[in-house]
Amino acid sequence: MAEFEHRLGAVLAQRREQQLYRRRLTLDSPQGPIVRLDGADYLNFCSNDYLGLAAHPRLVASFRQAAADYGVGSGASHLVCGHSRPHQQLEEALAEHTGRSRALLFSSGFAANTGTLATLLQRGDSVFQDRLNHASLLDGGLHSGARFRRFAHNDVVDLARKMSAVEGPRLVVVDGVFSMDGDAAPLAELAALCRQQDAWLMVDDAHGFGVSGDNGAGTVAAAGLGQDDVPVLMATLGKALGTGGAFVAGSDTLIEALIQQARNYIYTTAISPALAAATLTSLTLLREESWRREHLAALIRRFRQGAEQLQLPLMDSQSAIQPLLVGDAGTALDMSQSLRQRGLLIGAIRPPTVPAGTSRLRITLSAAHSEEQVDRLLEELALCRPQ
Ligand SMILES: *Cc1c(COP(=O)(O)O)cnc(C)c1O
Repeated sequence: MAEFEHRLGAVLAQRREQQLYRRRLTLDSPQGPIVRLDGADYLNFCSNDYLGLAAHPRLVASFRQAAADYGVGSGASHLVCGHSRPHQQLEEALAEHTGRSRALLFSSGFAANTGTLATLLQRGDSVFQDRLNHASLLDGGLHSGARFRRFAHNDVVDLARKMSAVEGPRLVVVDGVFSMDGDAAPLAELAALCRQQDAWLMVDDAHGFGVSGDNGAGTVAAAGLGQDDVPVLMATLGKALGTGGAFVAGSDTLIEALIQQARNYIYTTAISPALAAATLTSLTLLREESWRREHLAALIRRFRQGAEQLQLPLMDSQSAIQPLLVGDAGTALDMSQSLRQRGLLIGAIRPPTVPAGTSRLRITLSAAHSEEQVDRLLEELALCRPQ
């Protein structure tokens, strides 16, 4: 069938023409403020390793020890015989850390979101999602069989209007911190609306867990909301926690239903027990090394102050995600490339990841950065901005 080859080739050609073609980098170093790429060192402002834990010596030591004790591969899905002691301990620790009855590990955030939405929703239900929700939430909602409605970004009034127009069970789904904009969802208002309308609220805290709230318990805890307010809490482990995988936390009923029904949970191999053990150490570090959150917060303030003085196009974000709005995809790509030539790694985020005309440099800060590195970033941004 030459048809498939031809069609795929046409899509690639079009992407190239529109400056939307994506390429992967191949790193020859661990994640960190400085990474090695094609034989040179780069200042890294594009990873989601917000606390600098991905290569932390204690995580590496836990991973090594658990690999020696439990092996590298889990060997099976959780329901067959892939669920080992480190997985169990991690689930219990995650439930405690988030103040939930129980937690359930998934092999990725994408699987957790699509699997949870497929399990929760059925025909006759309605799901309401912020337009800027992560692709995995949008896909999960679209494929769930429920009526699917998007509401304007962070617009509780628009959501309330759309919710009151439908009958039947309703689920509202938002990112706690939006991955490409860095701004936070108005969780207290959303929770109040859901309570008033007798709807459930699901929060994807991929970018808040580990970073916001006491001990890094996340944006939901920071907003003072518990399990009754946010019955479905999801977060990933591959960002601030520095490892990989994800979890969903909530009531015993929710977790048991996911174990019995979520196809993305049942029909997939459990993450490595060594990864689970390393993540347990991340949770310990969240409690013991609160300086990481404090230093990150100070760097965010420093960056925003400096960028304001330089009149760079900052977005309304208080998180570690500090995008600069460029607009045109080609310009964003050119800026990213000239920064690369000057030794800085910053991704150009273009459609379809963000709406057309809102291409941006997605700058991410980490507790592993120094103040000097942030100052260098500001200097280079001032030099490369479009004149
Ligand atoms: C990264 C991310 C995911 C996906 O998590 P993975 O573990 O990388 O699959 C889901 N939701 C949001 C908001 C994310 O940023």
